[in-house]
Amino acid sequence: MKTFFNLVQEVQKQGLCYRCGGCATFCTAINYGALEIDRTGKPVYGDMEKCIECGLCYSICPEINELDEETKRQAAWSEPMGRVIETTVVRSSDPLVRDRATDGGAVTGLLLHLFDRNRIDGAIVTRSVGKYQRQPFLATTREEIQNSGGLLFETSHGMKQFSDQYMTFSTIEEFKPMIKKGLSRVALVGTPCQIKSLRKMQVLSLVPSDSITFCLGLFCSGNFTFGETEREKLAEIAGISWANVVRINLKDKLIISLNSGETRTVELEQMKGMKRYACQYCSDYSAEFADISFGGIGALEGWTTVITRTPLGRAVLADSRSFKSIEQFNVEDNAGFASNALQEVRKASALKKKKARHKRRDLTNRSVQVNI
Ligand SMILES: Cc1cc2nc3c(=O)[nH]c(=O)nc-3n(C[C@H](O)[C@H](O)[C@H](O)COP(=O)(O)OP(=O)(O)OC[C@H]3O[C@@H](n4cnc5c(N)ncnc54)[C@H](O)[C@@H]3O)c2cc1C
Ligand code: SF4
Ligand code: SF4
Ligand code: SF4
Repeated sequence: MKTFFNLVQEVQKQGLCYRCGGCATFCTAINYGALEIDRTGKPVYGDMEKCIECGLCYSICPEINELDEETKRQAAWSEPMGRVIETTVVRSSDPLVRDRATDGGAVTGLLLHLFDRNRIDGAIVTRSVGKYQRQPFLATTREEIQNSGGLLFETSHGMKQFSDQYMTFSTIEEFKPMIKKGLSRVALVGTPCQIKSLRKMQVLSLVPSDSITFCLGLFCSGNFTFGETEREKLAEIAGISWANVVRINLKDKLIISLNSGETRTVELEQMKGMKRYACQYCSDYSAEFADISFGGIGALEGWTTVITRTPLGRAVLADSRSFKSIEQFNVEDNAGFASNALQEVRKASALKKKKARHKRRDLTNRSVQVNI
């Protein structure tokens, strides 16, 4: 039986740990301290003696392909980037939601719709706790859900509040408060790796993954570190002062909006060294296992590209449109908007897969041991 010891050898030491938190959250002996998460977000042994060698952590790790076939079957996954039922471009109908959103506020708009219609008791999202720092959070009120949108940028906090991480990661950790509160209808917003980790838990019918009733996935080109050195480098590349930055967004480029109304862009290639190491090996751009996937790519500024992937996702989106919680891009403005958006996502997805394939080929050609 392979255990966390093997995860350390096969995943962490190869630099492939996405820090999704799945292994530590679902460790059978977590209450006895077998595993814990260190300050960098990496799961480590808390007390190796307490491990009962059940192998669960190993099976659900998104880097381990043991459950891949079953996970794909359950999601009706197909080449080249998972099941696509419908692609469209939408935004929240609520200007307040749009104001603080990353793109069109579609994620927050949809969560609010589900909450208002009494379809969910809460949502695992992230909240802003500083200029770039976001923390996983279980939102259980309308207000909390509304405040979870976007990449909030609070200039009043000053430079001290800059976090080293652009985004925090262990969203799955919020399962614990969900269990404590006895919530059984929760939506999860997450990056593709987090969604995949959850789907594996659902394949194994692991409690409480059955309480996640909606999976909303975000397109993802990588998770970036925004430490002081990185910020200095970005300021130099973009020719900006961080004091003048009001918003950042990540699409096919990093987009920096300034208080003067101007925007500056930085190519992702220029941010190579800032990307989380394991993200280089990740091949899922479009959240292939979500009920609905969301991203800014392929949509005009202020709108979100949305792909429904399951009948549930399609029904929820249709319901939110008919209740006017979500509005669709006007077809008269651009008749080909949906197919153009899908094409953009396909392109980005294919590129990410190709890069990941090359990186993995490199990995098999040398013996790597990275301690990150
Ligand atoms: C790390 C990362 C990389 C991304 N890369 C791309 C990309 O390359 N191309 C692209 O088109 N889109 C990318 N996105 C998605 C994009 O930034 C928007 O989240 C998406 O378009 C939805 O916008 P919205 O206005 O509809 O959502 P909003 O209404 O603003 O809601 C955003 C939701 O995402 C949640 N959230 C934010 N950060 C995280 C996180 N780290 N983990 C879990 N949940 C989080 C918020 O809590 C909120 O619920 C990325 C997102 C992340 C987190
Ligand atoms: S008890 Fe099971 S889930 Fe926990 S570390 Fe050991 S093998 Fe992994
Ligand atoms: S990728 Fe996730 S499940 Fe795998 S070792 Fe890292 S934190 Fe654990
Ligand atoms: S690229 Fe995105 S989905 Fe892939 S491991 Fe990194 S954060 Fe997760």
